[in-house]
Amino acid sequence: MKEKIELAKAYDPEPVEDKWLSHWEKNRVFTPKTTGTEKNFSMVLPPPNVTGSLHMGHALCFTLPDIIVRWKRMQGYNTLWLPGTDHASIAVHNVIEKSLEEKGLSREKLGREKFMEIAWDWKQKYGGVIVNQLVKLGTSLDWTRERFTLDEGFHRAVVRVFVDLYNEGLIYRDYYLVNKCPHCATVLSDIEVEHKELASKLTYIKYPVVGTEDFIVVATTRPETMLGDTAVAVHPEDERYSRYVGQKVLLPLQNKEIPVISDEQVEMDFGTGAVKVTPAHDPVDFELGKRHNLEQVIVIDGFGIMTKEAGEEFAGLDRFACRDLVLARLEEQDLIEKSEDYHHAVGHCYRCKNIIEPNLSWQWFVKVEPLAKDAIRVVEEGEIEFIPSNWAKTYFEWMYNIHDWCISRQLWWGHRIPAWYCQDCDEIIVAESVPERCGKCQSTNLVQEEDVLDTWFSSALWPFATLGWPDETEDLKTFYPTDLMSTGFDIIFFWVARMIMMGLKFAGDIPFRHVFINGLVRDFKRRKMSKSEGNSIDPLEMMKKYGTDALRFTLTALAIPGMDISLSEERMAGYRAFVNKIWNASRFALINLQEEEPELKEEELTLADRWIRSRLTQAIADTNDALEEYKFYEAADKIYHFVWHEFCDWYIELVKPSLKLGNRTSLAVLIDTLDQILRLLHPIMPFVTEEIWQHLPSEGISLALAEFPIPDERRVDKGEEKAMKVLQNAIVELRTLKAENQIPMKQKIRLWVKCGEQEEKAIHTHQAYFEVLAKVESLEILEEFPKGQMMLKGVAGGIEMAIPLEKGLVDFEKEKLRLEKELTKIQTEIEKIENRLGNNAFVEKAPKEVVEEAKTRLQELQDRNKRVGENLEHIQSLI
Ligand SMILES: [Zn+2]
Ligand SMILES: [Zn+2]
Repeated sequence: MKEKIELAKAYDPEPVEDKWLSHWEKNRVFTPKTTGTEKNFSMVLPPPNVTGSLHMGHALCFTLPDIIVRWKRMQGYNTLWLPGTDHASIAVHNVIEKSLEEKGLSREKLGREKFMEIAWDWKQKYGGVIVNQLVKLGTSLDWTRERFTLDEGFHRAVVRVFVDLYNEGLIYRDYYLVNKCPHCATVLSDIEVEHKELASKLTYIKYPVVGTEDFIVVATTRPETMLGDTAVAVHPEDERYSRYVGQKVLLPLQNKEIPVISDEQVEMDFGTGAVKVTPAHDPVDFELGKRHNLEQVIVIDGFGIMTKEAGEEFAGLDRFACRDLVLARLEEQDLIEKSEDYHHAVGHCYRCKNIIEPNLSWQWFVKVEPLAKDAIRVVEEGEIEFIPSNWAKTYFEWMYNIHDWCISRQLWWGHRIPAWYCQDCDEIIVAESVPERCGKCQSTNLVQEEDVLDTWFSSALWPFATLGWPDETEDLKTFYPTDLMSTGFDIIFFWVARMIMMGLKFAGDIPFRHVFINGLVRDFKRRKMSKSEGNSIDPLEMMKKYGTDALRFTLTALAIPGMDISLSEERMAGYRAFVNKIWNASRFALINLQEEEPELKEEELTLADRWIRSRLTQAIADTNDALEEYKFYEAADKIYHFVWHEFCDWYIELVKPSLKLGNRTSLAVLIDTLDQILRLLHPIMPFVTEEIWQHLPSEGISLALAEFPIPDERRVDKGEEKAMKVLQNAIVELRTLKAENQIPMKQKIRLWVKCGEQEEKAIHTHQAYFEVLAKVESLEILEEFPKGQMMLKGVAGGIEMAIPLEKGLVDFEKEKLRLEKELTKIQTEIEKIENRLGNNAFVEKAPKEVVEEAKTRLQELQDRNKRVGENLEHIQSLI
């Protein structure tokens, strides 16, 4: 029996992790019951892109909620954490089109059907990469419920939402200015546009005012767009131009008269204060044009080529070639006043790095404002809570300034928009299934919209569509609304806000109660991690090197709400040491555990037993409190401190004399404390805790399903904690004395003690602790220390201690030299700090913390100076 329960000598993470991963899967440990429970807890996983591969941001974003979900599961909740992946239109197009390009192919050459076949094949083959990595991270997801944003059920949900919104007038089609990549020939959302500083020219062009000799000068970085100008605008209060408002200018090269208008949005102090207005090619001008009913003249097409509207000379030219020609022609007519160097941010396509082109085309939109109202209310009224709460402000800022949402994308991989155009009349049919004929002219000549929906449109339905909506499933009844959404701040608007709007509208309730926003993972110098900088840390590599538990614990210990994480490999090495420490303590406990289960008898509890039970209760309360408030770092810190500094450093040593005496109660306390520690740690470190726990006499399929500790107030014993503190202080002092005087820790010593009656009792009763922890072989309690005897003296609380110095304990000559050297060193440093603190300029100007730190350090040095001085005196008198 004993061999069976003994742990391996050293902890080897990989085989242990593999073993429990398959055990959890085989036993469906993370699959909840669907019905008949009232105490439910649910979350949906932010679906990573199918193209994804686990990076440190993911590791953080998935570890933290896993801690909560494991904690809730252990608290007895019927718990669901539902996984899945996102089809990520653009990212998949990127991958596939790149490989097509290498073969000299393109999606246009291939055709829609063939392309979709390739895309699905690719998804089947590679879409599981991130899934496997998620599993390896130990996330307790219910893979039997795995979903994909492009699966059949999801498509039904998407189509239902689209059709309903369309029928309600909340989806419409409009001519709109969108960001278009001329190379990829697709519309990009604002986040898909990368802004890069570029050196360019600001050209000042003269527009002649009709009927006068005057010019209005406008400045532009994109002269070719002037061909599509339909007005010149000035600020209404700009006196330089007030006389021209309502007049016309002659648009150069096009020989066309356009009006001078006034608009509040024009910045008086930018350029000349007068701006050219090109509604079809600039987002600001587009809005301005709408306000003033200006004509939209498209002079550049979606591929970056000049159109017929640009004029005979320019039509067919590339936009940049056209720019040169426009400048040359203006120069010839002496219409360029000047040209300046100019640096400004220009939008680039995030996939092919070409400069994007604002482009007018037919697009589909969601009218967001009516949906936003409720979504604002539920956060205002606290139904949905952001953690940290300041993110609610960010949310409101976006929601109060919301624009309609362009949902169409000129891509194929995605949910194809369920709209059909009648080829024989102008009817548009929006329907859940393919319509047979046009309702207006009965024609059967119908063509479906080519565009697909923005990926965010489907992920907005994630919390309820994954649970079976639009069907009324048991899952939906049991697990909706979910309890927690954990995600990054960068998608509060793109994702969180839209889930709230869609959840309220279609599932009839908020999608989740809490939104936990995690920080960014940065390197140890607080720089953003990036592959190109070479400072990124690969989580998979770290898991291999230090074990998954060490990685998880590191991320947890660094997760201070509202702050970014500053990560280093050293931290992980440190927490691997923590894992090993737990392993070794557990080995010790298990070696002592005999066949029969130890029995706990109250009357046999030692001071150490009562103390560790009291401290454990505190650790349990602290951990629960911290998790309740999503203070992950605090939970990690409290457990770490308890396990390392109280359980391992003290209790394991203190329990040894008891065990030697065959005290089965102490053994029971040791095993019980270990069991509780494993439970406390399990949500953060699922693997090593499961491995050890399965060696304990406890029963159950998995530690993941065992009960999470709750504090038992009856075990709190402040009196015993205080008594223990007295002994601990005395022992620490003794060990310090030994260390300072170069006496090896293992060297046995005699000890004289002077103390009050109460301490005397404590010391007498617990003499064994001195023996084990400070190697005191004989301890005498004296009224007075013998005169004339040489000794090393120390004080702790009310206890005076002395180690009589005898030959053989210390090499006096050598020790004297060492102490003298140390004293000089200490005194030099004291002088330095005293000088600094004596300097008024330093004290006044330095940050408060720095001054405080110096003062503390000075006090420490002065104490040390005194001690070393005393020890030196003793030694000198011995020689
Ligand atoms: Zn592109
Ligand atoms: Zn028709």
